Amino acid sequence: MSLEIPQGDGKPSFHRGSFVDEIEHAQKDLVDSLHDSESHNESPSVSSSDGSVPTLSPTQSATPSTPPSEPISPPGDLVADSFAFAFDIDGVLIRGGRAIPEAVEAMKVLNGQNEYGIKIPYIFLTNGGGKSEAERCKDLSKQMEIDISPAQFICGHTPMSEMATKYGTVLVVGGEGEKCRQVAESYGFKDVVTPGDIIKHNSATTPFRKLTPEELANSRERDFSNVTIDAVFVFADSRDWAGDLQIILDVAMSKGGRLGTTSETFDEGPPIYFSHSDVLWSAAHNDPRLGMGALRGIVEYTFKEVTKGKTLTTHAFGKPQIGTFEFATRLLRRWRKNEHNLDSPPETVYFVGDTPESDIRGTNQYNAKAENDWYSILVKTGIYQEGTEPAYKPRNTVNSVLDAVNFGLKREMEKKAAKNTLPLEAFNRASKPRLTDLPNWLLDNSDCAVLSPAEERALTLTA
Ligand SMILES: [Mg+2]
Repeated sequence: MSLEIPQGDGKPSFHRGSFVDEIEHAQKDLVDSLHDSESHNESPSVSSSDGSVPTLSPTQSATPSTPPSEPISPPGDLVADSFAFAFDIDGVLIRGGRAIPEAVEAMKVLNGQNEYGIKIPYIFLTNGGGKSEAERCKDLSKQMEIDISPAQFICGHTPMSEMATKYGTVLVVGGEGEKCRQVAESYGFKDVVTPGDIIKHNSATTPFRKLTPEELANSRERDFSNVTIDAVFVFADSRDWAGDLQIILDVAMSKGGRLGTTSETFDEGPPIYFSHSDVLWSAAHNDPRLGMGALRGIVEYTFKEVTKGKTLTTHAFGKPQIGTFEFATRLLRRWRKNEHNLDSPPETVYFVGDTPESDIRGTNQYNAKAENDWYSILVKTGIYQEGTEPAYKPRNTVNSVLDAVNFGLKREMEKKAAKNTLPLEAFNRASKPRLTDLPNWLLDNSDCAVLSPAEERALTLTA
């Protein structure tokens, strides 16, 4: 299955009202800004440290080879063409719903407030979710005090949008109220059932969960004797683990997704997808809290218990899945082109995260396959605990995301200086120290961005 974002008239299956619109708006803005700059200032000039006056249009890319001592004015007219950043959010930029102060400063550095006066392209890649990308970007924009576009944002369930046309009726689990149903429908899923709909139909489904009056009003009336659930998607963290576990198991043990039936062989249930597999995440509490990966483990464990030994294979999107990083690569390519007019891929992408098992593991595994250099940086503001050894080793560990951005910027400037004295070929070798061959199926086999647990185990063995 292609993970490409459809363009123009063929756009309905992907992020209607968000990505495609954003990209079209970005293109229009770009044309407008080019037009404005031509009419207002025929040759915008940028002063450099040696006093020369190179002529650069606002959309021209450049990484200065000689760092100036003073910020170039105005900041942000120059764009770093050889590198970019990708950020995890929880534990890196946000903790307990609040901005980590260094993150706000880091965003300023990325947007041109640095000693070189350059803008650095960046995207966000979080396993979290439960809201539309546009809604989440609105919140994040407020917290980071900058404008963040859905066209530079991927959350755990974003890649699920590419499966919208593959299934008819789907059960969508997790999140607040009706939010995830709405997100799924905005992705193009045609018929979305929630646990609330099932409980409304038969309140005995979950003995200890009663719908609130609001849930009862929002849940949809339907006759489930005629419904076949073709797939289960856990979009966001469950707000009622026991009830959702019961309903997921009922579907998993059914004959082909028909509620009220029980398979004799327990291998007829529809596929079950989780938007990520993080067992722990960094919330407001001092210690990490349980996440969706824990529910995934409980679903698989309980299925085995109640079927007397049958194995349930579920699937997960999100980091560390290779497909999610591939998706991020395509998003970054489009963002750099539409926002910054950069056509070629960056030589280096710095990925900044707080979770070794998803952020660092995923970045390192993807780097082994990617053509450019994906450089993992672990920050200490999230689930990292001082004095512990991460299970997956980052290439650098720093205190905060601000340190990570400053580190990457400094490293790139040093590389740039070295590049000017070394033959290009030698530089390319130096910047990508080691490539490990991974089986081709990692990138070629899947019709979606998921791996089964068995594939994950195989991947762990080869990594
Ligand atoms: Mg995190």
